[in-house]
Amino acid sequence: YDIPLAVNEPVNSYAPGTPERESLQKAYDEMWNQKLDIPMVIAGKNVTTGNTQRVISPQDHQHDLGSYHLGTADHVHQAIDAALAAKEGWERLPWEHRAAIFLKAADLIAGPYRDRINAATMIGQGKNAMQTEIDAACETIDFLRFNVQYMAELYSQQPESSEGVWNRTEYRALEGFTFAISPFNFTAIAGNLPTSMAMLGNTVVWKPSYSQMYSAHVLMEIFTEAGVPAGVINMIATDPQETADIVFGHKDFAGLHYTGSTTVFKNIWKTIGNNIDKYKTYPRIVGETGGKDFILAHPSADAKQVSTAMVRGAFEFQGQKCSAASRAYVPSNIWEDVKKYMIADLKDIKMGTPRDFTNFVNAVIHEASFDKLASFIDGAKADANAEIIAGGNYDKSVGYFVEPTVILAKDPKYTTMCEELFGPVLTVYVYDENEYDATVELVDNTSIYGLTGAIFCKDKAVVAETAHRLRNAAGNFYINDKPTGAVVGQQPFGGGRASGTNDKAGSMLNLLRWVSPRTIKETF
Ligand code: GLU
Repeated sequence: YDIPLAVNEPVNSYAPGTPERESLQKAYDEMWNQKLDIPMVIAGKNVTTGNTQRVISPQDHQHDLGSYHLGTADHVHQAIDAALAAKEGWERLPWEHRAAIFLKAADLIAGPYRDRINAATMIGQGKNAMQTEIDAACETIDFLRFNVQYMAELYSQQPESSEGVWNRTEYRALEGFTFAISPFNFTAIAGNLPTSMAMLGNTVVWKPSYSQMYSAHVLMEIFTEAGVPAGVINMIATDPQETADIVFGHKDFAGLHYTGSTTVFKNIWKTIGNNIDKYKTYPRIVGETGGKDFILAHPSADAKQVSTAMVRGAFEFQGQKCSAASRAYVPSNIWEDVKKYMIADLKDIKMGTPRDFTNFVNAVIHEASFDKLASFIDGAKADANAEIIAGGNYDKSVGYFVEPTVILAKDPKYTTMCEELFGPVLTVYVYDENEYDATVELVDNTSIYGLTGAIFCKDKAVVAETAHRLRNAAGNFYINDKPTGAVVGQQPFGGGRASGTNDKAGSMLNLLRWVSPRTIKETF
């Protein structure tokens, strides 16, 4: 295959005095005052209904940012019909032309749309400039470029032929339409879920999270400008339950690409199971569904390294990433040092709106997250089994601000050691330095989820043994590094257990789920 090999998009620093910083600040201010009116996009047309919902910015929930239009059951049907109508033409298009559209989308983000997609993510998701750049710009670009490369590699996988017989594999798109449900926390995931399916000839109904409509809207603008034809990706904003009933009850439903909560995913799976006799084909179900990601330090670990991983792993992106470190197991011999470094680092962290580029921690995405976090923090304050050793304050008077909080748990099964909180709260359990083996056992037994995990250890034999014993506790396993920040093309992302189907976002393994190969034998 003859396509440009993908390389990771370089990350802009937005350092003080750089033109990039000035330009992003300008884009932020413009968008902050723009009051967007966000339509659905069905069959290539902007669809407004007049039934609007306010877009809410995490850092200032009273600010008027504009609104998005809510659709009805009719719009869900229209989006499905549009996807089905566009299907034949799209899948017949030689794949190089589909690839070119998505490479163009990547170039648009890398160039003219970079500030706009970053500003939309800062405003809508409350990320600081650096986090936004890593997510909305670089990771979205990487997903598009690497997936094009993986698609080419996938199509080139061909069987052997022999004298007089030509065998080949045709990588057909799935029969029917596909459905993408993207989460509130990552623009890149919203960029990846529909495009990875569409690239392979599928047509898509895409339902972004209501809390991510700003950057979803900008992504849709980019797809359109890049040349994604009408009906190939249809973006709807409709009631989740009603949408689910229609989509999963449709005979042509062929695949789901989902990132979101475990509970919702399990319910969807049950619905699909109940409807199985309606479908023409077994639908593909791919989901990434949360995590309770761990850091496990061995007594040989370097205290400073462990502390840095805890702070960065737990508090970057306000802890609102599936991979965020939310429980740490630290041996008694290094704990006092780890604690000292961590508390010193936390003192330097500034919290506030991302408009001020010096703020490191910003507001959490919506009120429901804020309320959940506040209630767990209150629970820890009132519980003799827990002690808050850093942070613990929260305030939603202007934005949904939750201070980076560290809870010390006396019981390794304390609620915040086990439940997913999805926010800037880290719980630490200090174990007796002679109890490492038992602690490995404990980590595995309490890993209901299996997304990411990190171990810190200088002894390679112990590393190997621990990696084996925790083999099912994390789909992304980090040795002497924080458990976050997977880079497309470098660390394919996903996990098992309650974290999902582990179909590694941004890899050929993921793309394989969106094709139904036909084996052809031709004789001469
Ligand atoms: N891929 C991201 C990381 O490794 C996390 C994405 C997510 O939150 O789902 O940090």
